[in-house]
Amino acid sequence: MAKLKLSPTDERAGLPSASAFQRYDLCPGSWNAAQLVPAATRNQSSVDAAEGTMLHEQIALRSRADIEANSDLSQKLSHEQRATLLRALNNDAALIEQYGITPRQVDIEKRLFLHDPVKLAPVASGKFDRVLYGDFNARVLVIDYKFGRGDVESAELNHQLRFSAAVLDAEHGPEEVIVAINQPRADGGMQVTSAVYTRDDLVKAREEVFAILEKIRDPNAPRIAGYEQCKYCPARGTSACPESIAAVAKVAGLPDNLNPSELAEALKLAKLAERVIEAMREQAKTWLAIQPDAIPGWLMKPGQTRKSVTDAQRAFNILSADGLVTQDEFVAACSVKLTDLVEIVAEKKGLKVKAAREAVETSLRADFLIDEKTTAPSLAEAK
Ligand code: SF4
Repeated sequence: MAKLKLSPTDERAGLPSASAFQRYDLCPGSWNAAQLVPAATRNQSSVDAAEGTMLHEQIALRSRADIEANSDLSQKLSHEQRATLLRALNNDAALIEQYGITPRQVDIEKRLFLHDPVKLAPVASGKFDRVLYGDFNARVLVIDYKFGRGDVESAELNHQLRFSAAVLDAEHGPEEVIVAINQPRADGGMQVTSAVYTRDDLVKAREEVFAILEKIRDPNAPRIAGYEQCKYCPARGTSACPESIAAVAKVAGLPDNLNPSELAEALKLAKLAERVIEAMREQAKTWLAIQPDAIPGWLMKPGQTRKSVTDAQRAFNILSADGLVTQDEFVAACSVKLTDLVEIVAEKKGLKVKAAREAVETSLRADFLIDEKTTAPSLAEAK
């Protein structure tokens, strides 16, 4: 097998990545476009993405007992985050039982490389949250965690997981690869979706992956803008992709007397344009972080520091001992997070989150202790 040269800064070795395969499929020119964007000026991750990364690290690095104890003060999890990780582990256990796998090897956050079958050189790679190999590699289970609350694609349709099936087929030739998405913050029954790739499906998955790789290698591969593919593309809003910038210009040029079906199309275009504008702002922030006077008339305003108490009980004990507050005064400064309270009750009483929420709300409602506010209705695309 050809030797791989890994750069210390790019674990993908400059090759296409499984996480972008849906984008490559919808916009084959996006691979070439992304190569034109310097790595240092690519978009920064959002606060939600940063929390997702932190939870991925926690579940990869810490044992179940460690998460249960939540004793790492440098990375103390909220009750909700801790319960989320424990639910993710419970979902894993249910999957292992459902598919009757006795793992003889588990890879955690390991990058797997797909190789050209003739030249044997690596051609693409993917990093998978958890890969469990059953006896004789006959069955392999791949688990992908999604820590967001929004809708996610099912395991069956997910391009990244199809890549995992293809690479595992190429490297190990199992009889079956089971792929699963584990979304512990989704509502009840929708937390886990899974799909089984049989021998025939594995062959098809491999063909599909190589077909996509061939499409994106074409120097004239077309760039096709659309919300799904542009959403996280590093080229959006940059000179490497005039098509994405054209989407913003198109929205700006729309007349104001659209009929309902024209408005429906315009709203889709606006979603794309928002992502492009957001990418421009992120790019500006990155440039200004590197060079404070890089953009005439713009600067980075320092962020605000917010302080919070990390342990309410200890804080009260100390402040009370110092004669600074009474119990009533301290409680008046505290607010209770219902989600955390529900998680605590669920764990203590061994209830599902829904049942724990009902129990907490029933108790508190009796004394009018729940204040309910409904936000204004928001615009959403119908499924
Ligand atoms: S921003 Fe959109 S259109 Fe442009 S290369 Fe990326 S995916 Fe394709």
